[in-house]
Amino acid sequence: MSIQSNLNTIKTSLPEKVTLVAVSKTKPVSDLMQAYEAGQRIFGENKIQEMAEKWEQMPKDIQWHMIGHVQTNKVKFMAPFVSLIHGVDSLKLMQEINKQALKNNRIIDCLLQIYIAEEESKFGLDENELNELLSSSEFKEMKNIRILGLMGMATFTEDQNQIKKEFLQLKSIFDSTKNKLESVSTLSMGMSGDYLLAIECGSTMVRIGSSIFGGR
Ligand SMILES: *Cc1c(COP(=O)(O)O)cnc(C)c1O
Repeated sequence: MSIQSNLNTIKTSLPEKVTLVAVSKTKPVSDLMQAYEAGQRIFGENKIQEMAEKWEQMPKDIQWHMIGHVQTNKVKFMAPFVSLIHGVDSLKLMQEINKQALKNNRIIDCLLQIYIAEEESKFGLDENELNELLSSSEFKEMKNIRILGLMGMATFTEDQNQIKKEFLQLKSIFDSTKNKLESVSTLSMGMSGDYLLAIECGSTMVRIGSSIFGGR
């Protein structure tokens, strides 16, 4: 199957209100250009250096989403152009994003990553940490960062009930966050293997890589 037909199949399966992030990490610019030519304008990368290189080479109407774990000392390399940072999980990182956004005279949109999986390796905040962060005076002083919503990743398992339980948990945290913070509207959950379930559970943004570009 071609990238274009994969993309069309997925787009047809998505409700209108769900945003598709085409996850292009490790893939060459020529593959991304096929998706671009098929109309895709939102791409997700998990390494800042790789994203910056692709940004330089590709058309400037693309929105670049950082979906990987972000190291504080690398924020400056994406601050001029990144459109949405999905994996924000600490006050320290938010302060650095805020600082670099100010330097670039812009407001950077972010999602806070919530830990929902039963795996030690995954990053993210729990609900208490999230609430502490949002009610802190440090956060309230940040003028150049906007929290658009939440992001999460389910446990890597075949057990659909387990995945569903985790997605519903994230949806419930999302709903209560939305009530507290006006800017919140986006729930980023769902990947190639579980995006339909994620949408059933209330996802508004799916991050799909291998089903579009093939295996990595
Ligand atoms: C790689 C990645 C994806 C896409 O995964 P696929 O299974 O290829 O669709 C989604 N989200 C994050 C955070 C990723 O790192």
